[in-house]
Amino acid sequence: MQKFQMYINGKWIRHTDADGIVVRNPSNGDKIAVIPRGTRDDVDSAVKAAYTAFRGESWRKIKAFERGEILFDLADKIKTHRDELAELESVDVGKPLSQGYADVDAAIRYFRFYGGAADKVMGNTIPIEDGLLDYVVREPVGVTAHIIPWNYPLQIISRSVAAALTTGNTVVVKSAEDTPMTAMQITKFIDELQLPAGVFNHVTGYGHEAGAALANHPLINHITFTGSVVTGISVGKAAMENVVPSTLELGGKSPNIVFADCDIDRTVEGVVRSIVQNTGQTCSAGARLLVEESFKETFLTKVIERFRNLTIGPGIQDKDLGPILNVKQFQHVMGMIELARKEGNILFGGKQLTIKGFEGGNYVEPTIIDGVSMDSRLAQEEIFGPVLTVFTFKDTEEALELANSTEYGLVTGIWTKNINKAHYLASRIEAGQIFINNYGAGGGEQMPFGGYKKSGFGREKGLAALDNYTILKNVAVKYR
Ligand code: NAD
Repeated sequence: MQKFQMYINGKWIRHTDADGIVVRNPSNGDKIAVIPRGTRDDVDSAVKAAYTAFRGESWRKIKAFERGEILFDLADKIKTHRDELAELESVDVGKPLSQGYADVDAAIRYFRFYGGAADKVMGNTIPIEDGLLDYVVREPVGVTAHIIPWNYPLQIISRSVAAALTTGNTVVVKSAEDTPMTAMQITKFIDELQLPAGVFNHVTGYGHEAGAALANHPLINHITFTGSVVTGISVGKAAMENVVPSTLELGGKSPNIVFADCDIDRTVEGVVRSIVQNTGQTCSAGARLLVEESFKETFLTKVIERFRNLTIGPGIQDKDLGPILNVKQFQHVMGMIELARKEGNILFGGKQLTIKGFEGGNYVEPTIIDGVSMDSRLAQEEIFGPVLTVFTFKDTEEALELANSTEYGLVTGIWTKNINKAHYLASRIEAGQIFINNYGAGGGEQMPFGGYKKSGFGREKGLAALDNYTILKNVAVKYR
């Protein structure tokens, strides 16, 4: 069992906490690591270190293109350790090994993408009058906080830390208490890069302790948070107490809208992948299937056939689905399935599975629910498991109404060969990303990602994320 330490002000901190937080392998329930239970004081030390580093000369003096090179070096280190990181992510989160590899490759691309942007974060000039030069510079915001969820720790730490460092900020990460392993590995690589002390800090611990202390710290200048709506609201309130901006990515209840004129095989594959990826524990999971009524039977027959062929097992065996993260999350998923038995029909799955040799893992069959009303919790709330809820529509207007009928608005898939219909829907749907005849575009680190409505605000990924980490300053010079 590995015992980790926190990383504050360029040093690994031996923690006084004797017990720490136990980290388990979701595939079999085994204990795999212990992390320190970070306190308010630990967070305070980390934020103060980041504050001092931001104001110090060492970090400021590193040229923009050199910051980019640091991120390229980090990408290279990740690539060198690709197998080890993919396995670690698979063991820690329970995700199929190939998803672990996909996450490592995405992490590499994030550090390269944002590394390349380091010397392209430009301001502009504004014409005012003769003899007056007005220019706008984009400066780093200062100390940035990054609160990481358990479902995609490696990808999410990479996307937000890369964007923050490339723009010259300093960073304090609070990793997810359930899945800190790859975040620890990234921290080790960053330590080897010998950045000025305090530029990058990593505290571990519980959300209501270390997380809340970080979100509430008065020296933080920006908070990036991914997780649940409830926690997002408390993080947003904490940010407002200190009058600092936050970027909140709070999940969704994303629909796939399927018309009878779609390419059926490609659509089945897209719809199924979108809900089983990471065992449905994905903020942008395609959790609702909205299918044209006349096409329902044909389409569902194929979806069910595909579900029947899905394999389930421990992450490291690289089946289609792994376990649910932990008992709490598993009970939530099973509770929602129970509700579906009362309110509607289970078309497929719905049962807990025991995998021989991995009895300590929480496995559930991929599940399809039908016959629930739009105001049901099953239609409105995140299940965060491999559970697809089916609805039908008669025409495009009804599809639109259903798509927009939850409090969320993260992603929508539209499947049709009719380009006019697809663009019309894309223009009316309240979601941050629309995919037409695909779902996810292969990861899309270049594309702005974030929500409408309760899916949150602000954008991560793409060049748009650089706005989170820069602040505009206008300078007017009278020279004549
Ligand atoms: P959470 O929102 O409580 O935790 C996310 C992160 O926030 C973790 O690092 C946690 O330690 C931290 N945190 C918790 N309370 C905090 C607080 N008061 N202040 C600051 N930070 C705090 O999510 P969870 O309990 O791990 O999962 C619950 C549900 O959230 C899931 O069932 C799922 O629906 C949703 N979720 C969504 C995403 C997403 O990608 N949008 C990711 C994880 C979980």
